[in-house]
Amino acid sequence: MSGGETLDFEIRPNPAPVAAAERSALLANPGFGRIFTDHMVTIRYADGKGWYDARVEARAPIPMDPATAVLHYAQEIFEGLKAYRSADGGVTMFRPDANAARFRASAQRMAMAPVPERLFLDALDALIRTDRDWVPDDPEGSLYLRPFQYASEVFLGVKPSSEYLFVIIASPVGSYFKGGVQPVNVWVSRDYSRAANGGTGAAKCGGNYAASLVAQAEAIEHGCDQVVFLDASEQRYVEELGGMNVFYVFDDGSLTTPPLTGTILPGITRESVIRLARDRGLTVREELYSYEQWQADARSGRLREAFACGTAAVITPIGTVRDRDGEFTVADGKAGEVTMSLRDTLVGIQRGVTADPHGWVHRVL
Ligand SMILES: *Cc1c(COP(=O)(O)O)cnc(C)c1O
Repeated sequence: MSGGETLDFEIRPNPAPVAAAERSALLANPGFGRIFTDHMVTIRYADGKGWYDARVEARAPIPMDPATAVLHYAQEIFEGLKAYRSADGGVTMFRPDANAARFRASAQRMAMAPVPERLFLDALDALIRTDRDWVPDDPEGSLYLRPFQYASEVFLGVKPSSEYLFVIIASPVGSYFKGGVQPVNVWVSRDYSRAANGGTGAAKCGGNYAASLVAQAEAIEHGCDQVVFLDASEQRYVEELGGMNVFYVFDDGSLTTPPLTGTILPGITRESVIRLARDRGLTVREELYSYEQWQADARSGRLREAFACGTAAVITPIGTVRDRDGEFTVADGKAGEVTMSLRDTLVGIQRGVTADPHGWVHRVL
């Protein structure tokens, strides 16, 4: 199958969906990642056969043989994106084509059969249409979509799997920040790195997260919300957070973000922020930025703002920065003006209340 191919979906409605009253109660306070819609997408792959059996079916546990390859060698990738309720009651997604392309790139890095991009997009549309009542009406809420793919061959040999399962589940989520956007405190890990040259840092795979959890736990122990990783070879240059990219805003109005050298996840929010900043005539550098420089620029006042970005929280200001030797704050530790204004524009486009000059919004319903 080439990138443009797709399949017909068999829709098998859940015979026992959540009742409307219970669904409304769940949607009133969904939190993050704990409640799920009535359905899921499943599509199977086998070498020699390609992708087959595309279904929308009742969300249910997936029986798994204990020798299933993913349980042993972690051949697994995922994506994360959101569907939004628009003002006219319709439903949209933000740049799902970029997620489809990144999913394919992640599959290639992990030696997995890629899902054709057209099929990935059709699968998202099919699930959203079926579970449309689960998209929150709350203007701060959204339906978080989690496509993933894993090695489903039953075999203990170390080799790329000959079979895969592609699944999409969906989870309604509320506002990430209760009571307004709050700056996060970050912990700079000096003991652990996330990704090395030639490794899997640019692939959105579960294994990268497994590797980051011990550093994230260290961040929490030290009173921080998130971990910042430095480069693996010199422990010198800032790379990204556990699941978000990072930006710096300077006193001349310019921005810097670390370059995509293969060890950083190419965030779709990151790329959107670069474009929106350049639309405003701001200079954006994709350039190495050392932790030492970060400290010096915060001290001198040259650094005015820092923020993290990703699908879950969109744009999050960074307040205090801590490591094993001490801490400092970025400017006054509050959310910066450029940060919040870029955030407003991006959220406005995603929600359909701001013009969409780049055609990023994809209408489903
Ligand atoms: C998903 C992810 C991001 C953010 O990517 P978006 O496409 O903006 O959501 C950043 N870093 C890591 C490690 C990620 O897994």
